[in-house]
Amino acid sequence: MSEKARRKLAVAAARKAGVGVLLITHLPDVRWLTGFTGSNAAVVLPANGAANPILITDGRYTAQAKQEAGDVRVIIAPKSAVIAACEWIAKARIAKCGFDDGNTTVATLKQMQAVPFKFRRSIFQPVGALISTLRQIKDPDEICKLRAAAALGCKLFDSIFDHIVPGATEAEVALALEYNAKLAGASEMSFPSIVASGPRSALPHGRATSARLPRRGFVTLDFGVVLDGYCSDMTRTVHLGRPSDDERRVYDAVLEAQEAGVAAVRPGTTGADVDEAARSVLRRAKLDKWFTHSTGHGVGLEIHEGPRLAAKQPQKLEAGMVITIEPGVYMPGKFGVRIEDMVLVTKTGGEILTPSTKAWIEL
Ligand code: ZN
Ligand code: ZN
Repeated sequence: MSEKARRKLAVAAARKAGVGVLLITHLPDVRWLTGFTGSNAAVVLPANGAANPILITDGRYTAQAKQEAGDVRVIIAPKSAVIAACEWIAKARIAKCGFDDGNTTVATLKQMQAVPFKFRRSIFQPVGALISTLRQIKDPDEICKLRAAAALGCKLFDSIFDHIVPGATEAEVALALEYNAKLAGASEMSFPSIVASGPRSALPHGRATSARLPRRGFVTLDFGVVLDGYCSDMTRTVHLGRPSDDERRVYDAVLEAQEAGVAAVRPGTTGADVDEAARSVLRRAKLDKWFTHSTGHGVGLEIHEGPRLAAKQPQKLEAGMVITIEPGVYMPGKFGVRIEDMVLVTKTGGEILTPSTKAWIEL
């Protein structure tokens, strides 16, 4: 599906929200709608589908905007794209402009409100994360890119074992992942890589430090690449040396919980159902009090996007969503284990996009 087809969906959503235009300033939304990847941009999307959408950016991006977003009208403004967009809206005498209140900073809102409007008091109408909600369902082109990003993540994990040796630092392991990611075409990592070893594996977000890998203990690797704009996200936990019975037991329970979560993925099931499928396995093993975060999240142009898979999340999964399933158990001062896959919601279930082995790995 092209950006044009996505804009059709957005126009329908804008019309349903009862606004004359949508003002889009969240850059992943701008990219999704137009293909433009610059760092200063706003899109004005008329809810009347006949009118052309307008991309506003600045002089640094004249050539790039033409190249990436050739099929929309581009306005080059010498000032902030948001202000220029609002001035255009004011001039067009639009009565209602929808904006994403969840992704608009106070600073941006102040810029919007500084523009003199004829109907100043009521022009801006918060419409929530309208575009980000549309982005939750990936089109075939996006699925293709997410598959490629996930496959690169797996390739990086499958070739990292030589670096996971006692005495090496967590940072060295992370650097090896990141070096190979760049060589393979990743533009960047999708978040600061997590390499958490020994007792640090009990930190769910233990970024790689200068800590040295122990002779015995877990090493949790949680990392992702950005390839062609799309993020990957996966976690594997490996063990250096012989494990204790407790370590082995916890690993097996987390793996069982993760597989139960993946097995629960299908259209129509809720984020809460999937969370409960994973959490109940850990509850039976009396480990659920150490599972201190939600089970997963959507992935796409952003590393964390909707839907959320957590207790009390009523949102239903739909075919085309790409989500993570990532239960973990973290025992402070002792050790932690997390296993995470990216999963595509298909018409009938879930397809794992990160098929690297989850079997026990002892190095
Ligand atoms: Zn992750
Ligand atoms: Zn994740």
